Amino acid sequence: MVVAPLQAYDLWTVIVGDVTALVELSNLKTRMLRIASHDLKNPLARIKGFVDLIFMMTTTLDERDRKYLTLISEAGDEMLRIIDDILNLERMRSGKLLLSDINLSQVVREVCSRHQPDLIQKEQTLNIVMPDEAITVRADAGQLSQAITNYVGNAIKYTPAGGRVVVRLTAEGQHVRFEVEDSGYGIPAKAQPKIFTEFYRAKAEGTLHIPGTGLGLSLVKSVIEAHGGEVGFTSTEGVGSTFFFLLPEQQTIQVGK
Ligand code: ADP
Repeated sequence: MVVAPLQAYDLWTVIVGDVTALVELSNLKTRMLRIASHDLKNPLARIKGFVDLIFMMTTTLDERDRKYLTLISEAGDEMLRIIDDILNLERMRSGKLLLSDINLSQVVREVCSRHQPDLIQKEQTLNIVMPDEAITVRADAGQLSQAITNYVGNAIKYTPAGGRVVVRLTAEGQHVRFEVEDSGYGIPAKAQPKIFTEFYRAKAEGTLHIPGTGLGLSLVKSVIEAHGGEVGFTSTEGVGSTFFFLLPEQQTIQVGK
C-alpha cells in the first residue's frame, strides 16, 4: 500500500496493489538460488579436495602440471567464494532481523582484530577512533558484524602494501556513524554511481588482479537499509576512499563502557 498526502487539496492518495504473485516469484527465486548454490558447493568441494590430494600424493609433477593444478584450485576457491556470497546475500534478504542491544564499539574492535593477519601481511596500519563510552545499538549482531567486516576487508584489500586504514565510530545526535577511510587505489568517478550494485566491480589502476565477487557492498547496503540506516562513500582515484553507514538515532542507546 502506498499512501501520499495531496497537500494542496488537504487530501490523501491511497494506492493498494496485490503483490502476491511478486512475493511468490521472489520466494521461488530465493529457493532456486539456494538449491543451485548448495548443489554446486558439494561437487566443487570434491574437485578442490582431489586437486589437493594429487598435489600431496604425486611426486612426479613437473612445473607445468603444478601450475595447471594451482589454476584449477584457485578457480575452485573463486567459485566457492561466489557461492558463499550469493548464499549470504539471499539468507540476509529472506531472513528476519534478530534484534538485540549490541555493543557496537566492541563489535568494531573484534572485526578489526580479526583482520590483523591481513594487515601484517600487507604491512598496513589500522587505527580505530571512537569515544570512550561504548556505543550500543539495537541491531542484528551477525549481520552488522558482516557489514563492518566487508567495509574493513575492502579497505585492506583495495589499499596497496604499506597503506593506512582508519576506522571511526561516532554518535552524532541523530545517528551513529561508522566509517572506514583508506589510502588505497580509490574508485574512478565513472564507476562510482554503480558501486553498490550487485556483481559490479570497478576497474581502477592497480586493482585488476584483486579477486572478488562484487557482492560485498550490496550486502552492506541491504543490511544497513534493513536497519533503517543508509550507506555512502567518497573516493578519489589514486588517493583513497571513505565508506560509511549511518544508523538512525532510535536504534541507539548510550551506555557506560
Ligand atoms: P568485491 O570486493 O568482492 O569485488 P564489493 O561489492 O565489496 O565486491 O565491492 C565492489 C567494488 O567496489 C570492488 O570490486 C571495488 O572495485 C570497489 N571497492 C569497494 N571498496 C573499495 C575500497 N575501499 N577502495 C577502492 N575500491 C573499492
